[in-house]
Amino acid sequence: MTSTAPPLAILGSANMDLVAYVPRAPRMGETVTGRTFRTIPGGKGANQAIAAARAGGDVTMIGAVGDDLFGSEIRATLTEAGVGTTALRTVPGATGTAHIVVDDNGGNTIVVVPGANDTVTFLAEGDEARIAAAGALLLQLELPMEGVLAGARAARSHGVRTVLTPAPTQPMPTELLQLTDLLVPNEHEARALTGTEDPYEAARLLLDQVPEVVVTLGAKGSLYAARGAEPVTMPAFPVRAVDTTAAGDTFVGALAVACGQGRSMADAMAWASAASALSVQCAGASSSMPTRTRIDAFHK
Ligand code: ATP
Repeated sequence: MTSTAPPLAILGSANMDLVAYVPRAPRMGETVTGRTFRTIPGGKGANQAIAAARAGGDVTMIGAVGDDLFGSEIRATLTEAGVGTTALRTVPGATGTAHIVVDDNGGNTIVVVPGANDTVTFLAEGDEARIAAAGALLLQLELPMEGVLAGARAARSHGVRTVLTPAPTQPMPTELLQLTDLLVPNEHEARALTGTEDPYEAARLLLDQVPEVVVTLGAKGSLYAARGAEPVTMPAFPVRAVDTTAAGDTFVGALAVACGQGRSMADAMAWASAASALSVQCAGASSSMPTRTRIDAFHK
C-alpha cells in the first residue's frame, strides 16, 4: 500500500455466521444430528472490510453490532484484521446472525436474522466526514435500503466513488443505481438485474444505468465494461477450490484497494483474482482472506 492511497469506507452488514455441518439438511419438522459447528464472523460488509484491510487498505467500517458476545467478537475480528471500527455502532439487542446448514454435498440453507444491521437506517455523527475523506465507499444490500441510500448520497455529494455489490438480489430504487459508479454483481445477480443469461450482454445493458460494471463469473473469472471503452476479460487462476464462500467479497475488497492505488482496471482485476483464488483454497470466509504480501507473491 502506498502511503498516498486514500482510505476506504465500507457501509455494510456484520453478522455472526453459525454454521452446522450435517450429513443432510433436515426436512421441516425433522431433527438431524450434525457433525461439527463453527461460528465465523461474516456479513458482506464485514467480509469486504476484512478483505480490503488484509489486502493493505486503510479501511473504516460503518455499521452496527448488538451489545452481545457476537458483537464483541466481530469487533475484535475486524480490529485484528486492521479495520477501523470507531464507526461500528454497538446498539441494544442482538447482533445479526446467519444460521447456515451445510450438507455433505456442500449444499447449504441459510436463514439470516439482521438484528443490529436493521438499525443502520441513517448515517451517525461523523460518518459523512468519514465517507467524504475516503477514496471510495463500498456498499452491499444487507442493510436497510434507507441506510444504503444515505451512504450513497453522502458519497456522491462529496465526489467519492461508490462501489455497489448488488447482493442479496432484491429490487433496487433507480436512485441507488444513479448514485453508483461501479457495480459489481456476480453472474446470477447480473442475470437477475437484466434478465439475460449472457454476462457480456448483461454488462452492456447495465451500462445504461451505471458508468462501470465488473461481473464476477466464479471459476470462469470476471469481466469489466465501461461506457465508451473495450470490455476487459480476466480469467480466474486455476486452483483447487475447497470453499468459495465470500470469494466475491474478497475480490471486491482487493479490487477497491488496487483501484485506490491508481492501478488500471485490468491490473486491479488480475490482483483481485489472485486474492480470491487464494481465499477459495482454504475453508472459512474472513479467516481465509489473504494479506497483501501473499497476493503479491501469488500474482507475480
Ligand atoms: P460469494 O457470493 O461466495 O462471495 P460471488 O458469487 O459473489 O461469491 P464469484 O463470482 O463466485 O463471486 O467469485 C468472485 C471471483 O473469485 C471470481 O471472479 C474469480 O476471480 C474468483 N473465484 C471464484 N471461484 C473461483 C475458483 N473456483 N477458482 C479460482 N478463482 C475463483
